[in-house]
Amino acid sequence: MTYPAAPDDRPASERASTGAPAPRRRSVPFTAGDGHPGTLVHVTGPTPPSRGPVLLIHGAGVRADIFLPPTGRTMVDVLLDAGYDVWLENWRASIDLPPHPWTLDQAAVYDHPVAVRRVLEETGADHLKVLAHCQGSTSFMMAAVAGLVPQVTTIVSNAVSLHPVIPGLARAKLALAALCVRHLIDYMNPQWGRHAPAGIPRILDGIVRLTHHECDNAVCRHVSFTYGAGFPTLWSHENLDAATHAWISGEFGPCSMAFFHQMARSVRAGRLVCVEGHAELPRDVLQHPPRTDARIVFMAGQDNKCYLAESQIRSFRYFDALRPGHHALLLVPGYGHLDVFLGRHAARDVFPQVLEALDGPD
Ligand SMILES: [Zn+2]
Repeated sequence: MTYPAAPDDRPASERASTGAPAPRRRSVPFTAGDGHPGTLVHVTGPTPPSRGPVLLIHGAGVRADIFLPPTGRTMVDVLLDAGYDVWLENWRASIDLPPHPWTLDQAAVYDHPVAVRRVLEETGADHLKVLAHCQGSTSFMMAAVAGLVPQVTTIVSNAVSLHPVIPGLARAKLALAALCVRHLIDYMNPQWGRHAPAGIPRILDGIVRLTHHECDNAVCRHVSFTYGAGFPTLWSHENLDAATHAWISGEFGPCSMAFFHQMARSVRAGRLVCVEGHAELPRDVLQHPPRTDARIVFMAGQDNKCYLAESQIRSFRYFDALRPGHHALLLVPGYGHLDVFLGRHAARDVFPQVLEALDGPD
């Protein structure tokens, strides 16, 4: 049996029937710097890796599996076929871990530096590359500019890094939530589309029922309500196949209100704001030149309705001014926030560009 080397848009069920083996997964637990649990998921194909490790970091309120949707060919498949040693990090925002009132500061100081060291210990490599999505990206970039992950040579950052820019309506909504709702609940949870407990969750579910009519998937509609003001917010329905649209119902869970409060402050400031006073982090992420030599590719779906592509354009300009020609900007037309990884044609339209970004110019 051979793993398919060519782009394959067939659904996973069809691929399985033709004998293409699914990648194998091995979970490696780690303990973050403050004692919080995390896991690394080592994904292997039928042949040993011929290249170094790459660490994939998920966003808020999801888990490592967000890179493994039931589309025909995933980003992980592409990286395995390219010879990379593929690792996925479940950090404290993961729904596979106990719910936690996390902030980006905690992930930057306690989670990502430990995860990077653990992958290097496991592989024997002395450096690695990173593909980070959304709040995996913001928190990892916070660690990078603070000099906490010097072993990283390349970062492909999707959606947002140091400069969060969101649409006007989402900005008003986020400010309102940070001001009012965070005192009443500790988490938002798209699973309230399936079952909303009495109190604030049931009230919010009522608002979603009144205002969101874009599809018949209640979790999908709650995701759009939770993470912005789109219909939907994180993808275009045209870009998803039916299996993936159904699958996302189980892939979104609790997301910390402490994080939403931090992001509201960051959006107002026009840059990430560190909120917990950790000595390891700068008071202002733009105050000093970044303490990283990594080449950074700032990637954005041009139709992103959660974080506008302007977010990544601003971060690219900031880094490019400091070291002209070293970094890159990758804008993907026809895609939004998460459909760059979940889209039915992402293997054709997006993944080759991500692979090229990770591989580098030489
Ligand atoms: Zn939907």
